[in-house]
Amino acid sequence: MPTYEEFVEAIKPLWDTHWLTNMGQYHKILEDSLRDYLDVPCISLMVNGHMALELAIQSFDFPEGGEIITTPYTFISTTHAIVRNKLMPVFCDVKPENGCIDESKIEELITEKTVAILPVHVYGNVCNIEEIERIAYKYNIKVIYDAAHAFGVTYKGRGIGSYGDASIFSFHATKVFNTIEGGAITFHNPAMYDKLRNLKNFGIRGEELVVEVGANAKMNELCAIMGICNLKRVDEVAACRKKIHDYYISNLHNIDGISLLDLTEEQTRNYAYFPIFLKNEQMRNALYDTLHADGINSRKYFHPLTSDQACFKNKYKNMKLDVAKDLSNRVLVLPMYEGLAFEDVDRILAIVKDIVYKYK
Ligand SMILES: *Cc1c(COP(=O)(O)O)cnc(C)c1O
Repeated sequence: MPTYEEFVEAIKPLWDTHWLTNMGQYHKILEDSLRDYLDVPCISLMVNGHMALELAIQSFDFPEGGEIITTPYTFISTTHAIVRNKLMPVFCDVKPENGCIDESKIEELITEKTVAILPVHVYGNVCNIEEIERIAYKYNIKVIYDAAHAFGVTYKGRGIGSYGDASIFSFHATKVFNTIEGGAITFHNPAMYDKLRNLKNFGIRGEELVVEVGANAKMNELCAIMGICNLKRVDEVAACRKKIHDYYISNLHNIDGISLLDLTEEQTRNYAYFPIFLKNEQMRNALYDTLHADGINSRKYFHPLTSDQACFKNKYKNMKLDVAKDLSNRVLVLPMYEGLAFEDVDRILAIVKDIVYKYK
């Protein structure tokens, strides 16, 4: 968060203008700033990351019942967004080295009904963009990336949101950059900006003109101002996170019983999450419980797989999801935030090492 004083000062003008939402001046300032910062051709701000994903999918007007090949190793929002668009998720397994969709298994899932691939740059790890692009081109289908974890990440010198037909970001309070609640869609085709404007603002095009059926998914001015304040410090925040990240790595990289994910080459990172993978589920659960008992919040992020959630279980097509299940059973995401004290990291590391030793 910015300081209280900075935020209060920044929102003062709203008391003069009373312009609180409906794409006001701060909405525009943040949109322009993020287009630069994220290094993307086009961007449309949204009320949150989930609606960004729903509307990004909706904007392509896929036929009802179309299939979207996606990953179950993600936050539930990814799958919800597909289903709420009356489309069918088709779950593809992920890769053990980085948790991203396994591009070598996508083609076998393609049918006449496939309309898109929806991969997730999970933990900010970049998917195999070239191969996904090749498949999408070959079968004439769209690629929509869930880049909710990948704010500020670049790949081969370009903003991660500049790949695919569209990418979505989340600016939720728990993410590396926040607007309290918020999100954005990034894309290439400038015509999509107007389409998304309709979808996020009731299709209203004039005082007496509605041209399309749309939802309400606009970002309000207070949230935009929060974003403008936070964007000023985002690099500083990433630098703090990097220190914690490097400290974790130096202490954990050579411990038998713990594995870490590999980073895709030629990408930068934002240090949003610090996932570790224990030897087995029992060890993971023991570590989770022990941390929890000591007042330390870690997360089994992502467990269960979205395809195993009560609302989706056995409803949709999937291949064997052995790798995703295995990662899901062994993962624990350790605390990671700006301002996490090193003495607290030491406490966490001591517990981790203790559990690993006990369960050897
Ligand atoms: C956070 C998140 C979302 C949803 O974003 P909100 O801003 O919380 O609506 C979607 N996908 C993934 C992978 C996320 O982590």
